Amino acid sequence: MSEQTISSSKCKMCNRVVVPPRETCPYCGKKAGPMEQIELPPVGTVQSYTTLQMPPEGFKAPLPMALVELEQGALILCLTSEHAGRQVNIGDSVEIELDTEGRFCYRVIT
Ligand SMILES: [Zn+2]
Repeated sequence: MSEQTISSSKCKMCNRVVVPPRETCPYCGKKAGPMEQIELPPVGTVQSYTTLQMPPEGFKAPLPMALVELEQGALILCLTSEHAGRQVNIGDSVEIELDTEGRFCYRVIT
């Protein structure tokens, strides 16, 4: 298990959690005040996935990606890790790790 946590921020007004962390809630704006910085465990559930046949420059096609929901409803877009194991399905539990470029990658744990 990775000890890495995922930095995020939580709005004191609407309680939404966003990744990466921000100063101001993207939903409430400045009236909610500064967001609270929190750390989330690097595990989540796959909400959606896709495979890009024409990925951005610097990536090899086909490029699998997954939208993963973390604790407290935070959503992040992840690349597949080299150790992803297999094609993901909606509802799969995944572990999130950062690659050498600092991008989120998922690995199926169930
Ligand atoms: Zn808010």
